[in-house]
Amino acid sequence: MTVTRFAPSPTGFLHVGNLRTALFNWMIARKAGGTFILRLDDTDPQRSKQEYADGIMEDLEWLGLTWDRVERQSDRLDRYAEAADKLREMGRFYECFETPTELDLKRKKQLNMGKPPVYDRAALALSEDAKVALRADRSGHWRFLLDRERIEWDDGILGDISIDAASVSDPVLIRGDGQVLYTLASVVDDVEMGITNVVRGADHVTNTATQIQIILALGGGLPAFAHHSLLTGPQGEALSKRFGTLALRDLRERGVEPMALLSLMARLGSSDPVEVRTSHQELIDGFEVNHFGSAPTKFDSEDLFPLTARFLHSLPLEAVADQLAGIGVPAEQAERFWSVVRENITTRGDIAGWWGVLSNGAEALVDPEDAEFIATAIGMLPDLPFDDSTWGTWTNAVKAATGRKGRGLFMPLRKALTGRERGPEMADFMPLMQAKPRL
Ligand code: GLU
Repeated sequence: MTVTRFAPSPTGFLHVGNLRTALFNWMIARKAGGTFILRLDDTDPQRSKQEYADGIMEDLEWLGLTWDRVERQSDRLDRYAEAADKLREMGRFYECFETPTELDLKRKKQLNMGKPPVYDRAALALSEDAKVALRADRSGHWRFLLDRERIEWDDGILGDISIDAASVSDPVLIRGDGQVLYTLASVVDDVEMGITNVVRGADHVTNTATQIQIILALGGGLPAFAHHSLLTGPQGEALSKRFGTLALRDLRERGVEPMALLSLMARLGSSDPVEVRTSHQELIDGFEVNHFGSAPTKFDSEDLFPLTARFLHSLPLEAVADQLAGIGVPAEQAERFWSVVRENITTRGDIAGWWGVLSNGAEALVDPEDAEFIATAIGMLPDLPFDDSTWGTWTNAVKAATGRKGRGLFMPLRKALTGRERGPEMADFMPLMQAKPRL
């Protein structure tokens, strides 16, 4: 049975980078009819906030990425303590006392000598007496003793990976203040929750190498790993600094449709085309994790707006009926109104603007050279209500009276009636008008 997890730390709101991870893991589980776990990596009590945990769930719900259960690492501290004991008994866990400053100094020395900044395992040589003396002064942190051999796996996206464990520092799993760190908590959870597939960002590749050794030391089975590339901005610039402005809730505020966002993120960076999908099932059906490439993936939030527009164009009336009723579109006009405006909006927020123009009359948009012409034309408008033939009859009459034709005739009339440069077919628009334009 396939079991995946999305494991955000509730220390901020979700952004497009996290979404990729969430979506891939969700699609893998749903495609296989498996289980998708939302795991809150909240072992850091200072930075984890309930507000963010709530926000993460709200954002996933908005996208329709449903989870089968929630797990919180803060509820499982006893499990991590047990695993730590096990590693200690095996001799794979050792106590270290270097301060951050001392570690920094060691790293600098190594770099100066052209050596990789790998922890030198000095703490392994401490005698019991020395440790007792050090403990009186500070509390120790705990590192996992890596086997210095090559760690290899077949990555679902990156292919064959081989990392020399000798080039990696023994990871700290428990801090001096007793806080369990991500690596230990994550490994214990992945093993005990029977996680079969782990997809996460390429920034976790080295973590994966060390996690493989810890999983094996704990007697667990290895999940299949895949590391997706990181997103960059349109010019290839690192996006991580801009994630603050690419929070999912900001995109939602700006009118991005969930299906537009999912359609892009479910295929961007893969060999499959980005097309607007109207259902989650379509996203799942065409998804193959091994179709994704390892190169950084360019992301431009502006691409979400044409996709949102295309998604809205495809929506049947039922999908917007409530919203139309909410802004006051009478039920008997809803069908016609929707078919007239849906191709002339970018976001749902634009719908009300069109209804305002129709129900209150537009603020006429008139170029100075057209002022006289428009005054004449508006004077020739028949009484309301208009019907399907009004546009044809009226423009013919205006043409005869003024001698204008073609674009010079139609454009100023459109701008006067709608207050905009572009919009629906005027013959379809006029019957919906409840008021004449205001000059
Ligand atoms: N909390 C980790 C992160 O957000 C989870 C990484 C993982 O998927 O293991 O980076």
